[in-house]
Amino acid sequence: MNLEEAKVIIMNECGEGWIGLVNQIYERIPEGVVITEIFQKYGKLVTRFEPDAKEYEPFQLFLNDIEFRSETMCEKCGGDASLYAIEGWTYTRCALHSEDGIDLNNLPKDT
Ligand SMILES: [Zn+2]
Repeated sequence: MNLEEAKVIIMNECGEGWIGLVNQIYERIPEGVVITEIFQKYGKLVTRFEPDAKEYEPFQLFLNDIEFRSETMCEKCGGDASLYAIEGWTYTRCALHSEDGIDLNNLPKDT
């Protein structure tokens, strides 16, 4: 898929907070690589590509880094975020966009 298609998917599934990350991914695509899937899973931005070849390992590592960074960015606004459980689903959101979900990184401790 091309950049525009990827942006539409992420805008619909998540929000504009991760569009900067999507742009960075497309700026770094090695020649010969095609993005096959881009989606939110457990609050992370996950990207799949083809072909799965050894020479594209650095690109995979870059995508892992993007995934890692998406965990700290609100998918709605790009602000500082935490992982929230909202109606049974997991999202990376800032406090403003947490919709009264449960902050999974700051759960009350059992004593
Ligand atoms: Zn936000």
